[in-house]
Amino acid sequence: MKTVLACVLTKKLNYFEVVLPAKRIVCPHCDGEGAELRGGLKGLCLSSEDMKDHDFARSYMRGDYDVACSHCKGARVIDVVDTDSLTPKMLARYVRKLSQDCRDEREAAAERRGAE
Ligand SMILES: [Zn+2]
Repeated sequence: MKTVLACVLTKKLNYFEVVLPAKRIVCPHCDGEGAELRGGLKGLCLSSEDMKDHDFARSYMRGDYDVACSHCKGARVIDVVDTDSLTPKMLARYVRKLSQDCRDEREAAAERRGAE
């Protein structure tokens, strides 16, 4: 069985790493492309003005600005925890950790906004 190392959070708020059953999915980060736009161009909204620069448009379409996906390292698929195979207890711990991560991320984002 495929496994993946994951961090879970207990009710007493102790983190620990466990080996959990895994399944392979198409990388949601790059949608199975295996590539993403280079850092600076990520999330940049290109206007039709930008595309009038034919050299730029051509290299953009050709993927000159693409780098291997940071999530799957270009493998196009990733191993994720197979939540269907978890015991209810482990699932609860795993979900608790995920929502904790979300909270941390939101707080970090709020701090970044506050710092600007
Ligand atoms: Zn990817």
